[in-house]
Amino acid sequence: MTVRFSDIRIDRKKVRRMYLKIHRDGSVSMTVPAQAGQETVRLFFEEKKTWVEETLRHMPAQPHHTYVQGEKHFFMGRTVFLECIQGSPEGCRIDGERACLMIPAEGGDPRRLMIDCWKKALERQLQDSVRYWEAAAGVRAAGFSVKEMKTRWGTCHLRTGKLCFALELASKPVLCIEYVVLHELTHLLEAGHTPRFRAIMSYYMPDWKERKKILNESPREFM
Ligand SMILES: [Zn+2]
Repeated sequence: MTVRFSDIRIDRKKVRRMYLKIHRDGSVSMTVPAQAGQETVRLFFEEKKTWVEETLRHMPAQPHHTYVQGEKHFFMGRTVFLECIQGSPEGCRIDGERACLMIPAEGGDPRRLMIDCWKKALERQLQDSVRYWEAAAGVRAAGFSVKEMKTRWGTCHLRTGKLCFALELASKPVLCIEYVVLHELTHLLEAGHTPRFRAIMSYYMPDWKERKKILNESPREFM
């Protein structure tokens, strides 16, 4: 297992020393002094890198899914149970509490069908949410993409203005998805997690801290 510096969540706070923490879900974060230079932070991480990778290797595996009939998953914050049907055309559709998977007799890949379905639903939600929060906050992103990310919920590329969101957000409630959307859009107004950043968040979304808590409370439900 390789952990890259770009995968680490960095929280800048009023602290004197740097701390690195490995979370139960396998994500890694660092708390660093507000003014610490990026290079200093990176070097600190490089020193700990071997230990981090070694620790992660010995951590218990995340909830393991086998994509069989009746298996429980989360979809947009709701519980759904897999219903596997053999047939064609292949696909996955959410029907109330059921996620109906149509799997071909040969070469069917339920995991891929499920992920495609979760990803499409997330993209639809993001389309609405990004548009809504862009208008609310008076900013404009240069588009977004969705991909599998291990330790972050979203990123904002300041130079290009492009946003990227973690595929796993598809398992989270919409109010959490919206929090991540506004968080990344706010980076277009304020690069760091500064008091100004927090003030902007609070202005547009007074309950963002509760939403963040809900988002990080449950383990990452890796599909
Ligand atoms: Zn951020």
